[in-house]
Amino acid sequence: MDSLSFWEHRTFFKGIDVAIIGSGIVGLNTAIHLKKDCPALRIIILERGYLPFGASTRNAGFACFGSIGELADDLSSQPESEVFGLVERRWKGLLELRSILGDKALDYQPFGGFEIFKPGEEAQFNECQEKLAYFNRIMESITGETGTFSVQDRHIPSFGFQNIDHLIFNKSEGQLDTGLMMKALLGIAKQLGIEIFNGITVEEVEEVGHHTVIVLAGGAAIEAKNTLLATNGFTKKLFPHLDVVPARNQVLVTKPLPLLPFKGSFHYERGYFYFRNVDGPEGSRILLGGGRHLAKAEEATQEFGHTTVIQSALTKLLHEFILPGKKVEIDYWWSGIMGIGQTKKPIVEMLTPNIGIAARLGGMGVALGNLVGKEAATMIKNNF
Ligand SMILES: Cc1cc2nc3c(=O)[nH]c(=O)nc-3n(C[C@H](O)[C@H](O)[C@H](O)COP(=O)(O)OP(=O)(O)OC[C@H]3O[C@@H](n4cnc5c(N)ncnc54)[C@H](O)[C@@H]3O)c2cc1C
Repeated sequence: MDSLSFWEHRTFFKGIDVAIIGSGIVGLNTAIHLKKDCPALRIIILERGYLPFGASTRNAGFACFGSIGELADDLSSQPESEVFGLVERRWKGLLELRSILGDKALDYQPFGGFEIFKPGEEAQFNECQEKLAYFNRIMESITGETGTFSVQDRHIPSFGFQNIDHLIFNKSEGQLDTGLMMKALLGIAKQLGIEIFNGITVEEVEEVGHHTVIVLAGGAAIEAKNTLLATNGFTKKLFPHLDVVPARNQVLVTKPLPLLPFKGSFHYERGYFYFRNVDGPEGSRILLGGGRHLAKAEEATQEFGHTTVIQSALTKLLHEFILPGKKVEIDYWWSGIMGIGQTKKPIVEMLTPNIGIAARLGGMGVALGNLVGKEAATMIKNNF
């Protein structure tokens, strides 16, 4: 590629106050909060994909804040304040997402979530059951709701799953339509006058004097007063030293099925596998994904794609556990890339005086994306 023409530069890339790299949940929310607070700022988003192309349009749409088994596991390695501080941020993030976009626009459904315990997981189940009152007390202080978690083994026969011993229900979990959520966020960003440039891959960002220089694929360079990386699982390509590791997740959706015996979000094998109903005019489908614990090293990649190991595990789970003995066909396969690290806490910080980052959303970015965006917007605003 050539350098930018005089016209291109003057018309599209001159006088940029804030350039955000990445139009996922975080990039869009940052831009929206910042523009609402400071309407005079010229904010652009540079996105390499024709759509946001990471995790935000490719996730499962669980509106979740942590299953009891996962939280118990987190407490074994992290202080209580950190674990429940993050739960509170996820909860508040979900409430704010729902209030900004509205439940109708998100197709938000309050079906609840279930954690599944198989034979051989009795010890984990007993630990969770013993701590039920403790978790419910803390959840009440966060959500104001009593009895968030409850054992609901009575549903086991009607759900029809094969080989399952226990179910713990989380009544405050919901599910939403990921596509609608992102469409609504893109719509708000455009309405506010935020310019989104698709098909632009950023190769390099550096601080020069009191501004930033962004080098685009092909060699052209543009300037912005401030740049924010909202690149989540792809951050290492730009700043290799940061603790944001890519984690690929493979997902399938079935063809419509006549009648599903269950509704809700399901967490299986400590949340490494997840599935839910997806309702639509043609009937209900099942979305099923995960399994990266079966090939952790191979799945620590920024490349989209599929592997036989994980596709076979997901297919087996679908046919043998979720709908045993029923005829079911797979309609879609895709993958998405999350950003994870040593801790589950997202990074929201300035890396240099004018280059910031908001990333490492882990597996609950739907809940965290809005708040992380809001925090990033405040951080950048303080620079003006
Ligand atoms: C399969 C899957 C299922 C999930 N399920 C759930 C769920 O049910 N509930 C939940 O809460 N969370 C879930 N998550 C996690 C959630 O989707 C993420 O945490 C969240 O979407 C992260 O948003 P983000 O904006 O930080 O990153 P992303 O959505 O990945 O956005 C980053 C953007 O940056 C762009 N980009 C990267 N590098 C460059 C560059 N150099 N130049 C230009 N553009 C660039 C990418 O194209 C991308 O669009 C899931 C994730 C996956 C992958």
